[in-house]
Amino acid sequence: MRSWIRDIADFFFPRTCLVCGNVLMHNEEHLCLHCLPDMPRTDFCYHPDNAMAQLFYGKLRVERAAGYFYFSKGSDYRLLIHRIKYNGEKECGRYLGQLFVRENRDSRFFDGIDCVVPVPLHPRKKRMRGYNQSEWIARGIAEELNIPLVADALISRTHRMSQTRKGIYDRYLSTRQAFDLLPDNRLVGRHVLLVDDVVTTGATLLACGEALAKGGVTSISMATLAVAKI
Ligand SMILES: [Zn+2]
Repeated sequence: MRSWIRDIADFFFPRTCLVCGNVLMHNEEHLCLHCLPDMPRTDFCYHPDNAMAQLFYGKLRVERAAGYFYFSKGSDYRLLIHRIKYNGEKECGRYLGQLFVRENRDSRFFDGIDCVVPVPLHPRKKRMRGYNQSEWIARGIAEELNIPLVADALISRTHRMSQTRKGIYDRYLSTRQAFDLLPDNRLVGRHVLLVDDVVTTGATLLACGEALAKGGVTSISMATLAVAKI
């Protein structure tokens, strides 16, 4: 945005930091200059055997896995993810995706990756929210790496089984997310970076990774904005 237009816009509609809520200065984007450096970074890009990579050991061959910062109960940065996900702050997801790459480029974590694929939202959820937050994070990463974003090949579907006379847990199991990869030449034989907003148990990334491998993707790496501390 041209600087004088931003000055006028800031005067009438002050932008606030998505972590602490303070009014942003002219040169600040989404996070203030206190909250951005204080973000609890993981440095996983520099440690290949990190806790996130270990979630997939023995389950799926993953080249590299890293999240940008930690996400713990009661932390203000938890609110940041909530805002990116539910409050329309998709541009902040894109911005943090760019920063994730910029800050970790020297680690070589992103070297050799051909394209970026976001974990898809179920179409019903996407209709309700209006956007897929993981797609915006993936967009920021792809833009910074100058490689394609492929957001339409991996699709989310819901297992539908007969729900009559099932217990709560069975119902949960029968409605868990499943993923399919549509045939796509942009992905076959490639090294794909799969992107989500948060990793907790790794179950969603694993299910997506399995769909990518089944569809002919040769190498899979994983990246998330946040890593939940369990
Ligand atoms: Zn702040």
